[in-house]
Amino acid sequence: MPSIAKPPVIVAAASVERIRSKPRPVARPTRDEALDAVRTLIRWAGDDPGREGLLGTPERVVRSYQEYFSGYDEDPVALLQRTFEETDGYDEIVLLKDIRFESFCEHHIAPIIGKVHIAYLPNNRVVGISKLARLVEVYAKRLQIQEKMTSQVANTIDEVLQPKGVAVVIEAAHQCMTTRGVHKAGVSMVTSRMLGEFRTDPTSRREVLAMIGTPAGGSGDYV
Ligand SMILES: [Zn+2]
Repeated sequence: MPSIAKPPVIVAAASVERIRSKPRPVARPTRDEALDAVRTLIRWAGDDPGREGLLGTPERVVRSYQEYFSGYDEDPVALLQRTFEETDGYDEIVLLKDIRFESFCEHHIAPIIGKVHIAYLPNNRVVGISKLARLVEVYAKRLQIQEKMTSQVANTIDEVLQPKGVAVVIEAAHQCMTTRGVHKAGVSMVTSRMLGEFRTDPTSRREVLAMIGTPAGGSGDYV
């Protein structure tokens, strides 16, 4: 039976389910409980939540949390589902460099600030570049560790877009390391995840790493 129709792209249901599965659903406290929790932490710090300068603080912190952690309410898969196929056969690297992000480490709830570089080798489909930046936001606006965030960004692109290769490099400074504990300022951590051709073909890997360029090397200039 002759078939000239291009087969539809089917994203493996099981794997998408895996990405969609959010951290275990939690019962959110009421706003009043959250405000009380901030007052408790102010007292824990040694100050009086009843003094004038701190009266509005619980309200501001609770609102900030909604912004810092807005990624829990967003679906990273839905973000990437609109793709463009009219690429005139473009099959070279697409690279989005220096996507700044702010996140919070899940061990200290201290800021992680850095840059993400995302590259992929299209397989007839490309995605709007703003969508890649939004994808970073969805995962950054959660309690994170950098290694996990690197994998999540790469895996989502790989499974939804199904390109020939994906490379994600993240360089970031962790304030739990610079403002407390060992107090090592100027240190940045670099993580990477390579999939497809970037993992299996050393030439492709070298090419993408050359395009991304040398990581900040601890200069921390993105902080
Ligand atoms: Zn930490």
